[in-house]
Amino acid sequence: MRKQIAAANWKMNKTLSEGMSLLNDILSANQTLGSDQHIIFAVPYPYLIPAQNAVSGQQNIAIAAQNCHHKTSGAFTGEVSVDMLESIDIKYVVIGHSERREYFAESNEMLAEKTDLCLAKGITPIFCCGEPLSIREAGTENQYVEQQLNQSLFHLDNQQIEKIVIAYEPIWAIGTGKTATSAQAQEMHAHLRQVIASKYGHETAEKISLLYGGSVKGANASEIFSQPDVDGGLVGGASLVAAEFVQVINGLKS
Ligand code: PEP
Repeated sequence: MRKQIAAANWKMNKTLSEGMSLLNDILSANQTLGSDQHIIFAVPYPYLIPAQNAVSGQQNIAIAAQNCHHKTSGAFTGEVSVDMLESIDIKYVVIGHSERREYFAESNEMLAEKTDLCLAKGITPIFCCGEPLSIREAGTENQYVEQQLNQSLFHLDNQQIEKIVIAYEPIWAIGTGKTATSAQAQEMHAHLRQVIASKYGHETAEKISLLYGGSVKGANASEIFSQPDVDGGLVGGASLVAAEFVQVINGLKS
């Protein structure tokens, strides 16, 4: 089975002590993860090291950064490079979240650069894509998301693309409480897998974990994750409440 992933995106929330107690509450809920089940916590930069320490030695649990810069080093005050993340042993980075695309003008081309830097350092990008409401209403979401993949990922070769985790997050469902139906999620995920298959072959497409994101919570996770092409979720709001996120984790396919 492909990796099934419950990924928490804390965004710009929680102080250090609040974040660590959230993490510990989730860890102490003591789920036994199956060999293909993984939990990832994308935490704010200042908490990466304490969060790494909190999960150290725990099977299939990792800490992710929420972003990285698209250049290797230099005069970019306030930014964090992929080399810095590698130097503290970070294995995942969220790339191209819609909030970064919208508020920080991150382009598909810039995200291609970030992706390349991560892969060169053995860091797995959790690459976010997804359409705004106007595109969904116009019925052109497939083409829109395909273009995001095309411009940011499709320069990769087979070995590289297999290492990417893709999170499909329709923007109209992020933080709005309005979840895509499980059928809508499955439809887009199946489409994306097909698009990847037509470029890289069926075998490669079958290896890539496709996460759904957009108002996933305890009550809807297992229904969404049960869809054949949905391999877990990237979760914002519900990942900030231990009991909710534990339920999300319990919704992963086993
Ligand atoms: C997200 O931040 O990626 C997200 C999906 O947020 P929420 O779960 O709150 O919609």
